[in-house]
Amino acid sequence: MIKTDVLIIGAGAVGCALARELSKYDIKVTVCDKNDDVGGDASKSNSGLFSTSATMPVGTLECRLRTVAHSMIMKICEDLEVPVIECGSIAPVLYPEQIESAKGLIERAFLNGVYDYELLPAKDILDMEPTLNPEILGGIYSPRDRQTNQFIFVSAMAENAAENGVEFLLDCKVTGMDVSDGKIHRVHTENGDIEAGWVINAAGLYCDEIAKMADECDFKVNPRKGEFFVFSNDTPVKVSHIISSVPSPKTRGVLVIPTVDGNMLIGPTADDVEDKTDRKTTSEGLESIKTQALNMVPGLHFEDTITQFVGVRPARTPEGYDIRFSEKVKGYIGISGVRSTGLTASVAIAFYIVHGMKEAGVTLERKEGWKRTRKGIVSFADKTAEEKDTLIAADPLYGKIICRCEQVTESEILQAIHRPVGARTLDAVKRRVRAGMGRCQGGFCSPLVIEILARELGIPETEVRKRGEKAFMLDK
Ligand SMILES: Cc1cc2nc3c(=O)[nH]c(=O)nc-3n(C[C@H](O)[C@H](O)[C@H](O)COP(=O)(O)OP(=O)(O)OC[C@H]3O[C@@H](n4cnc5c(N)ncnc54)[C@H](O)[C@@H]3O)c2cc1C
Repeated sequence: MIKTDVLIIGAGAVGCALARELSKYDIKVTVCDKNDDVGGDASKSNSGLFSTSATMPVGTLECRLRTVAHSMIMKICEDLEVPVIECGSIAPVLYPEQIESAKGLIERAFLNGVYDYELLPAKDILDMEPTLNPEILGGIYSPRDRQTNQFIFVSAMAENAAENGVEFLLDCKVTGMDVSDGKIHRVHTENGDIEAGWVINAAGLYCDEIAKMADECDFKVNPRKGEFFVFSNDTPVKVSHIISSVPSPKTRGVLVIPTVDGNMLIGPTADDVEDKTDRKTTSEGLESIKTQALNMVPGLHFEDTITQFVGVRPARTPEGYDIRFSEKVKGYIGISGVRSTGLTASVAIAFYIVHGMKEAGVTLERKEGWKRTRKGIVSFADKTAEEKDTLIAADPLYGKIICRCEQVTESEILQAIHRPVGARTLDAVKRRVRAGMGRCQGGFCSPLVIEILARELGIPETEVRKRGEKAFMLDK
């Protein structure tokens, strides 16, 4: 049995941000997750935007936390060497009836303290983003909207937390709890029991199930599905800003997103579904994305789609963020409703909870020698010829290309495997260093990555998994 001061259930953006924040203090922190990797469910399948709170409902907890997070996030990303592009966003006004709603959004942005959210004339917008539909009537420009690699952001926080002493238990699903006399005595997992002073529910889509185990559930999770296209990075028409439909309270609508990795994401839809595990794209969903995107950026080449994916938002009824220090069950903290904005808000949620724990009387002594920074994996593909020579001179495995499409080297893959909370599966390697992300989607490099994983983890190749418990790559 494991004993810990704080148990965080869930290693998505929220759980990993919390783990990093709590790792500053002299306490034992453990994170467990049902998945075989950190990165979460929703947290790894989203638009990767760090947006301002311009369009948020005024005065809500979600709005406040996102505002705080937006102001902190660049420094955190700098400390953790997480790539971010500050590309700004444009919401083109396509129809006369959108002008009134655009004006309403500008007023709301002002109330939310986002003063640089402006409605500009068509000419100014087209000068900034010539790929847009020339028929636009104007557009809302938001200069401080940013894009990141969502997985690198979350895994960087996890790596930094692990370096600062946090223990990560993966493939470790929470299955039940012993609760009596207003206290959680034990948390049961598929890998044994855990005793914790504090139990924090950061389980995203499954936070209602965990809340029921803790006898603290008065809400329902409503999975809200979002479908995306991924374009190859050599597509001829690329946007330089995030292009979004004029946002509504439920969603920012379809976006055309330039990513830090040089390709484009187009999506998402926003459809309420029953099944939390629904990861199927649909012809209707994809068709509606295509129509909306082409309306904004007519030159997009949908034939350059290399893959499609689905992310599921952990929305809730009643709607909105809920962060609860239970009065009924001592030591239980529930987080729910972290739906469309949680990648950004995660870092503020972490501070909010730590502050709440201090208010609740927990003594948190600052740890000596806490490491604020984390080094990223140096990408060979991004370097000049001269820089590539220097990398190869220092480490000859930088000279061995494994993924031809994305120019990923063996050195990068070894680093992905051997760093704290390192890669154990093909997908985990792909997310960390992009091997298999390119046009051939792993057709060429998968056998080589299997070989490397088997060698480095000391397992037979037949034991190497794509992801998940039973997804073995080769027949046994
Ligand atoms: C289509 C889409 C687009 C989005 N775009 C953006 C955006 O641009 N910007 C932004 O800021 N946000 C965006 N979001 C929202 C953001 O992705 C979420 O708010 C955020 O990822 C929620 O993080 P989380 O850690 O709460 O949940 P998750 O990432 O889902 O993590 C929860 C973790 O809990 C684990 N877990 C669940 N049950 C158990 C159990 N029983 N035992 C152990 N572990 C368990 C899961 O395995 C998972 O790893 C988007 C979301 C979607 C789906």
